[in-house]
Amino acid sequence: MKKELIDFLNMDLQFIRGVGPVLAGRFNDVIGGRRVLDFMLHIPSSVRNRGITECAMDATHGDTITIPLQIKSHKPGGTFGRGRRRPTQIMCADKTGQTVVIQFFNSSYLDYWLKKLPIGAWRIVSGKIEMIANRPTMTHPDFIEEMQNATKIPTNQAIYPSGEGLTQKTFANVRDQIFVALPEKLNGADEQTREFFDALRRVHFPESNDDLAPTSTYIAKLAYWELLAHQAAIVISRKKREDKTNRRTVRPKKYDLIPKLRDAIPFELTGAQNRTINEIFADMAKDIPMMRLVQGDVGSGKTIVALAAAIKMAETGAQTALLAPTDTLAGQHFAKLKPLCDKIGIVCDILTGRDKGSVRKEKLISLRSGRTRLVVGTHALFSDDVEYKDLGLVIIDEQHRFGVSQREALRAKGNNPDLLALSATPIPRTLSMTIYGDMDISIINEKPAGRLPIKTTKLPMARVDNLVAHIKPQIESGAKVFWVCPLVDESEESDMTAVETRYEELKKVFANVGLVHGQMDKKQRDAVMQQFADDNSGMNILVATTVIEVGIDVPRATIMVIENAERFGLAALHQLRGRVGRGSEQSFCVLVYGDNISPDGLKRLNVLCETDDGFVIAEQDLMMRGVGELLGTRQSGWIQYHFVDYREHRDLFKLASRAARDNEIDSWTRDLMYMFDCGVNVGA
Ligand code: ADP
Ligand code: MG
Repeated sequence: MKKELIDFLNMDLQFIRGVGPVLAGRFNDVIGGRRVLDFMLHIPSSVRNRGITECAMDATHGDTITIPLQIKSHKPGGTFGRGRRRPTQIMCADKTGQTVVIQFFNSSYLDYWLKKLPIGAWRIVSGKIEMIANRPTMTHPDFIEEMQNATKIPTNQAIYPSGEGLTQKTFANVRDQIFVALPEKLNGADEQTREFFDALRRVHFPESNDDLAPTSTYIAKLAYWELLAHQAAIVISRKKREDKTNRRTVRPKKYDLIPKLRDAIPFELTGAQNRTINEIFADMAKDIPMMRLVQGDVGSGKTIVALAAAIKMAETGAQTALLAPTDTLAGQHFAKLKPLCDKIGIVCDILTGRDKGSVRKEKLISLRSGRTRLVVGTHALFSDDVEYKDLGLVIIDEQHRFGVSQREALRAKGNNPDLLALSATPIPRTLSMTIYGDMDISIINEKPAGRLPIKTTKLPMARVDNLVAHIKPQIESGAKVFWVCPLVDESEESDMTAVETRYEELKKVFANVGLVHGQMDKKQRDAVMQQFADDNSGMNILVATTVIEVGIDVPRATIMVIENAERFGLAALHQLRGRVGRGSEQSFCVLVYGDNISPDGLKRLNVLCETDDGFVIAEQDLMMRGVGELLGTRQSGWIQYHFVDYREHRDLFKLASRAARDNEIDSWTRDLMYMFDCGVNVGA
């Protein structure tokens, strides 16, 4: 690829008109990157038709419509007796004279609306229509345009999977600018590159939901290219490992530490933990570097297994780096590992982006000298100025949260070090071979003894009040509760309502309620999370969107409530549930579902009520994943493909795998590997 194109793909989204650093940060949270390329690989999940309707009575409750309306009068909102909020209402009429109400919560600025929507004027308005007291009502319309600007409302609006603080308008703006700039950047590009970006353009401007189905020509093409990139990376990596000239000398053991580890652990290891540890030790004794993935459900005890590997490495005098996806998780690992390392007599340290100045300097010196044998941290572990004396082992926790390039950036700090990846989300056996073809896999399929299975039940939304009454005494006797609310799906303005409304409601019942969501800055979020984890803080209930960390450990949390559980995918629900049941007390998970739950949604909830086994759930997940169903893929923990649908594209897996094995890895394949972040730098 030409440099000009690469530079464009790598451009930070903050430089796009109307974006800036704050929104770019939100893009980073939502789409997992902040470059033009990351945006291009994040495609719409559906199309919303906004064709024009003339008559409001033609629409049914819940439809999205676009309709010309004349403004008739304004009714100011505000707060009335006993804290009841009333929305500001704009009374309008459609062409037939039918009254249509537009209403806004959180907005009592009547002057503003008088100016923006003057009485007598016509506007074209688009949004979801609801029949409230028999009157067509639109709350927070998505678009309000003057009649001559009607074309600003897209007839077929691409709806992007979004997150907190990003509206569909922001997505559309970024997309439009990128694809306007693209043709010039493609000057002189070869046929395949053009074909690739043309396919991308088509899926970013879909005309119907069919264009976005896994079976659509363009999605299938992109899926194949994506798989080819991954399979080629696997082939390269396997060849490199097996290459005879690449053999290493095994580090000799200098100290005896493993017996000390066994003494330091306050419990008996499970059979599965012991087996996994033995597999790891056998790898470490070989003359080719270890590449092992440990899969085990949340709570199966992967941390101790990781520690055992680190201690084994420390016996040779070499170092281990444990990479965690967030500061909070790094902190939790450190808090657990440090006392054990102290007992064993090795130096354990933590390094995150928070370490500054002289503190950081000292930590770096200790790493460079080799004194620190185990360092836990975030991406700070592979910053440019971090040097290791002898990095022998890299451990990646929650490995799906990292790209191959990050994994390799850390490995590059050592001389072809061992790699141990940990994953809390089991992958169906039928898939793991193709997905992790370059890795050996250990499975921890056994929970520590005495762990009670989480009792899971489902509950209709209408009975939430009973639930609250039910958990009250439990909280009073010391239980901690996670209360998860989904984002209101794709809504333009009112992203936060679900979680905030629930927070307000629960505050009326409980003294100290915490709230975390993606629009808070990370520091604030971490502080609340820390407070919730702290036994003495008095904060016993935490209302959250799914930003609560994977793997966060709050042993006293015994109740997980998931509101609108039908909106989450199976794997995501299983992950969320795994945040309780980490202590010896009986834990509960309550899946609260809305009125309009689909039969499939109900089936998903039933699977969870029936089993706690991550592998069974993973198999079910694969079977039940409907066409075009993108629920929760982001949190599913399986490889985060952009275009590949695990169920629909199974034959593409085979095709791509064969193509990567049988053909020369050409420059086009390398370009693909670069674009899909498969550990290749362009030009390499
Ligand atoms: P995960 O696999 O989710 O990373 P952790 O390693 O955090 O799980 O372990 C969960 C909890 O179980 C920790 O508090 C850990 O100390 C404890 N644990 C791990 N192994 C055992 C065991 N064999 N017996 C009892 N408790 C254990
Ligand atoms: Mg863990």
